[in-house]
Amino acid sequence: MNDNNQQTKRHRVVIAGGGTAGIPVAAALLRADSGIDVAIVEPSETHYYQPGWTLVGGGDMRAEDTRARTADVMPSSATWIQDAVAGFEPDHNRLTLASGAVLEYDYLVVAMGLQIDWESIDGLTDTLGANGVTSNYRYDLAPYTHELAKSLGNGANALFTQPAMPIKCAGAPQKALYLTADTLRQRGVKANIAFYNQGGAMFGVPAYARELDKIIAGYGAIPYFGHNLVAVDGAKQQATFETQDGTVTADFDMLHVVPPQSAPDVIKNSPLAGDAGWVTVDKNRLTHTRYDNVFGLGDCTDTPNAKTMAAVRRQFPVVVSALRKAMGGSTTADEYDGYGACPLTVAHGTVLLAEFRYNGEVVSSFPLDPTRPRRIYWPLKKHFFPWLYWHVMLKGKPWSLPKPKPRADLSA
Ligand code: FAD
Repeated sequence: MNDNNQQTKRHRVVIAGGGTAGIPVAAALLRADSGIDVAIVEPSETHYYQPGWTLVGGGDMRAEDTRARTADVMPSSATWIQDAVAGFEPDHNRLTLASGAVLEYDYLVVAMGLQIDWESIDGLTDTLGANGVTSNYRYDLAPYTHELAKSLGNGANALFTQPAMPIKCAGAPQKALYLTADTLRQRGVKANIAFYNQGGAMFGVPAYARELDKIIAGYGAIPYFGHNLVAVDGAKQQATFETQDGTVTADFDMLHVVPPQSAPDVIKNSPLAGDAGWVTVDKNRLTHTRYDNVFGLGDCTDTPNAKTMAAVRRQFPVVVSALRKAMGGSTTADEYDGYGACPLTVAHGTVLLAEFRYNGEVVSSFPLDPTRPRRIYWPLKKHFFPWLYWHVMLKGKPWSLPKPKPRADLSA
């Protein structure tokens, strides 16, 4: 039901954000009890499967297969309020919407994702989508990444950037590099490929970082650490980086940019935010640290896990069980262990399936060494995970993959 024509209304449960996290919470809650009055505030007509954008950028998936109409993923018995949250007033159990309407609730779930700070890089927005400047972090730009990979010639400079953490899918900046480098290799083109990383390692979990050091070297690509992209001059095809020793400028023919990311401004400016701007929740229970009737999940919270769809997959049943307990529908609530996963597409047809939990603990869903890239994971990334997303996760159905096992031997 679409309800965007209201002034002050009240719902038992309000979910702010109907993306990867918000829809499964609503669907699972309504599966448990179809009589619950659930409203979702979601401004966008379109719902995206963002993990597919890496494959679109590699030419391995069609962009249109990563999107659906929001109306088609909305649970039929939830109320869709097609509006944007403009302010939170948790002391009064209400929020204001961009339309000026006020929405009251008994329980609030915050699932608004994060904002990509495109404007924070000087000159970037003037040239995105032209002059060789691209980003898999936008639906409309991901196809341009592959167009560039198909058009670069010998001696071209292809640069890839990674900002300060946290970002969603920390592996996505280097996935763009590997698929582009593999396309160039298949075409027999010898380009100068470089990875400019604000951080100091290829990945936050050392066991995977060691393997990725070898993979990037195998492409002859050079990683530069401690380099933060601050400006892009599209006309001159130059990128400027800040380093400890001053600024460095590099010429490019292709520049894949991943900008800094932060909590949405409306969260930053609300009582729900902690010092860093994210919604502060208990990292295992996903309940707000100050408001008992507020829950948070997905990219917008301060939980120290990797911001991924894989994390949301484990988080949404926890939020639903906490809500059910709070509403008296059950006596127990589950806990989230920090699980996250990153299927690193290290070549067309090959994936390193990095799985981990809180504190960088390596885990594995399969009885195989998880640090090894394998061809058998490619069909998972390309076919199985998207299918599971559209047909299982968004329907709020339990996920029946084996529980990942700790790998103490790889966690040091
Ligand atoms: P989103 O899915 O972004 O949803 C947030 C929703 O909130 C949106 O629908 C938005 O419209 C809505 N919203 C925003 N502002 C407001 C407002 N003011 N009021 C109301 N609603 C609002 N994850 C993986 O697990 N594996 C991968 O391989 C992977 N690859 C990725 C590759 C790329 C290029 C990208 C960009 C992401 C990737 N991810 C991957 C990460 C994954 O997509 C996110 O972690 C996931 O989408 C987070 O879900 P979310 O609901 O928190 O945010």
